[in-house]
Amino acid sequence: MAILAACERGEEECVQHSGSSASGRTPPLYNGGVDFAGDIFAYGLEAAGGNAGDGGGASRGAASYADLMAELGEPTYRARQLAQWLWQRGVASYEEMTNLSHELRERLAEAAPLRRAHVEAVQVSADGTRKYLLAFADGVRVETVGLPEVDADADGASRLTVCLSAQAGCTLGCVFCATGRGGFVRDLLPGEIAEQVRVVGADFGQRVTNVVVMGQGEPFLNYDAVLAGLRLINSPAGLGIGGRHITVSTAGILRGIERFASEPEQFVLAVSLHSAIQETRDRLMPGLRGQNLVRLQAALERYVAVSGRRPSLEYTLIAGVNDTPKEAAALVAFARRLRAHVNMLSLNVGGSGEELAGSDENVARRFAARVRQGGVEVSMRVRRGVDIDAACGQLRAR
Ligand code: SF4
Repeated sequence: MAILAACERGEEECVQHSGSSASGRTPPLYNGGVDFAGDIFAYGLEAAGGNAGDGGGASRGAASYADLMAELGEPTYRARQLAQWLWQRGVASYEEMTNLSHELRERLAEAAPLRRAHVEAVQVSADGTRKYLLAFADGVRVETVGLPEVDADADGASRLTVCLSAQAGCTLGCVFCATGRGGFVRDLLPGEIAEQVRVVGADFGQRVTNVVVMGQGEPFLNYDAVLAGLRLINSPAGLGIGGRHITVSTAGILRGIERFASEPEQFVLAVSLHSAIQETRDRLMPGLRGQNLVRLQAALERYVAVSGRRPSLEYTLIAGVNDTPKEAAALVAFARRLRAHVNMLSLNVGGSGEELAGSDENVARRFAARVRQGGVEVSMRVRRGVDIDAACGQLRAR
């Protein structure tokens, strides 16, 4: 924690967050304060698509199920069987993995204990949104949200989106966010990230169609574990959710954006901008104070050039703070260069500090119209789960 506090503001130069120190293959690789790093949730999939050991832009992958099987003297195909039991069948113990020998099951239980998340509470919103309080093996809790909806573009088929957490708590302290005000606990492990999706799908009794990493924490300050977790979610051997249906939202961690551009999957990038004026952004996102917006824009331009994909920009409208005509003009200038889509949302009261309030509906509409007139695509997001504090900026572990 002390290391995080010392480095998060200067993260571009930080060895911990650049991944360049991750030379070993066995746990603890994800050691963000976790005292059970040998747990199966510390492992990722084999051959998950990372350019392991290349020292370059893409994620280096993780200690994998294949590594674990090799350590136990087992053939590689066992790794795939293990992944299928864990993520497709969702079994709660090695004992249930009946195509593995009894002896192997016992050795796995000893080498990499399987301890599923415990659902401590579920709250259900009037709009169908469900918020889960999950406790992991060491008692650390996070909140995860399931958002069911009918997809008008898919003949009325129903969608189920999971908004998951990347860390327990957050170091960045955005002033409008309940998580940020609650402080930082620890990074989540790859399996803990995928586990959130499995739990929500099982509770709804429905296939999860979309994943957004927009819950607690900053995903790019837990980069390797998040990527390994997303690969568990994305892989056909895991949860099998297509990369284009998985969105990672960052507050704007430059090194993470750079690495993400080179990942082979089609994951989608969203950036929480909230203001294109330096002074306003510094006030709203004090954890990134000093990060120059010009550098952020340059990093996003490189992201577009390398990945061939356009990022979206998240913009939470706050009355009298970032909803003025001057802010709209700055947003247009920022977004147009990137040809980025802007997702707007009015601030949720439960997540804000006392002095902040969401923009009035008319002001929000006028602001969006101004940005559209400037040639930028805008969506106004519908607030979901506000009555159970499950909307953006409202999550925390209670
Ligand atoms: S908005 Fe995101 S980055 Fe900011 S404090 Fe909340 S969880 Fe952290």
